[in-house]
Amino acid sequence: MDEFSNIGAVACLEHIKHPISVARAVMENTPHVFLVGEGALNFALSQGFPKENLLVADSEKEWKEWLKTSNYKPVANIENHDTIGMIALDKHGNLSGACTTSGLAYKMHGRVGDSPIIGAGLYVDNEIGAATATGHGEEVIRIVGCHLVVELMRQGKSPQQACEEAVARIIRLTKLRNKKLEDIQVGFIALNKSGEYGAYCVQNGFQFAKHDHSGNTLIDANYFLKVGE
Ligand code: ASP
Repeated sequence: MDEFSNIGAVACLEHIKHPISVARAVMENTPHVFLVGEGALNFALSQGFPKENLLVADSEKEWKEWLKTSNYKPVANIENHDTIGMIALDKHGNLSGACTTSGLAYKMHGRVGDSPIIGAGLYVDNEIGAATATGHGEEVIRIVGCHLVVELMRQGKSPQQACEEAVARIIRLTKLRNKKLEDIQVGFIALNKSGEYGAYCVQNGFQFAKHDHSGNTLIDANYFLKVGE
């Protein structure tokens, strides 16, 4: 998503190594904003992306191990998900963002998380700020998380306050639905037009990287659930 609110996304796209580049091609080379499944694959091939077998031996081994129990319960904070979200303010003061993921491990075929859904896993408004999310996509979609974070910044909240309020909403809805907070993890990062940034998550274990004139810094995000601390 760029500073002009151009957007592009793909979901359920298999056999393509860099789906984020296909998402950019959707944005730049089609009149649409979101392609999924076979249509997304056909579009990627038509754009010259090679079809590849992306299954590596280690993943196949782990999957076969998982098949023994086939226990389908996405767990918070283990290495079963991998979203990379980036939000940026360039030297002209323009905001943009992108995110990419293979989603939760062993998910149901056809499951779509938050990352490709503009407003849920990513949102940019060049007048206000940008936000992106990681963690359990279902919880992020439930509150249209990143759009919420940007709208909270529009109302005058700092990026940190906006991330905290979005997480608070997830916490309220999790309790309302009688689900356990320990079972979920969601993290947001946000950046405003002045270059201020913030991050917050449900529980410990979320780091984000900041790059500016002073170099690169890896930061532990603050979190809500401080059990036993
Ligand atoms: N948010 C992603 C999803 O739900 C998972 C992740 O953060 O890696 O698909």
